Amino acid sequence: MKKNVLILSVVVGILFSGTVAAGWGGINIPTPPPPVIPTPPPPVIVTPPSLPTPEQAREAMGKALSEVVNDGSDIVNTSLDTQTSISSQILGDEISGIVEVVNIPNRQVVSYSTTAVKGIAYVIETGDLELIAELFANPVLAQSSVLLAAELQRSRDTHYPRSKPVPTAIKSVLRHIFPNSVLERARYTIGTVQPTLQNLVNKTRKGKHANHAIVADDVIVFSSEPSLSEPSLNDLKFWAHEIRHVAQYQEWSVLGFAKRYIKDWEDVEADADSYGEKAKN
Ligand SMILES: [Zn+2]
Repeated sequence: MKKNVLILSVVVGILFSGTVAAGWGGINIPTPPPPVIPTPPPPVIVTPPSLPTPEQAREAMGKALSEVVNDGSDIVNTSLDTQTSISSQILGDEISGIVEVVNIPNRQVVSYSTTAVKGIAYVIETGDLELIAELFANPVLAQSSVLLAAELQRSRDTHYPRSKPVPTAIKSVLRHIFPNSVLERARYTIGTVQPTLQNLVNKTRKGKHANHAIVADDVIVFSSEPSLSEPSLNDLKFWAHEIRHVAQYQEWSVLGFAKRYIKDWEDVEADADSYGEKAKN
């Protein structure tokens, strides 16, 4: 009996499992309902901090750089002055004079690196990022441009105190080719400009005009007295050429001018010559 029950339950079990298996095969599994996507909470709108525009960022960077350089060069110059004054107290004026001479290269380094960073600060401020990129990509050009810019800046600072505004007679006949801002900014003096540029200009420009001039930023340094009134056409051409250089400095910065002069001095001069020609018309 027990054996029969066992067999029966096995048979029922097989049948039952067969039914179940057959049943699964035949059932249509309903397409599951689309998942319920919870509605996301409304985004929290954060007011973005007011970011500076690229122009504002550049200007801020440029100003910060300038300030750092001014502070830095003040510190170095003050410490050099202190060295000189201490040595003069301890060793007497004669020896301290030697200390001062020894310090000249240090002061030049200060002046050159100041010019370099000021130049970079300037181009950042004015947005002439092309100039920065070009100088960073070409260390030789960067170095020579900075040295020339420093020389030009020193020449300009040396000559500026004795310089005079462009004579009214000249300005009034050149108004048709230069904006007032350029004519009012340009100044002139008589003198010589220190080595680098002097040599460069003498090599390239000799013989074009009996008088010759070098422009250091806003100061035109003539080698001899230029015509101040009743200028001939040639005089006007000469003045216009030099005043165009003043405008170039204004447009490109001292560093930018130095870079262009080293790289393409002929282009820079051709541009100035074109104004010389305009002056005659
Ligand atoms: Zn020129």
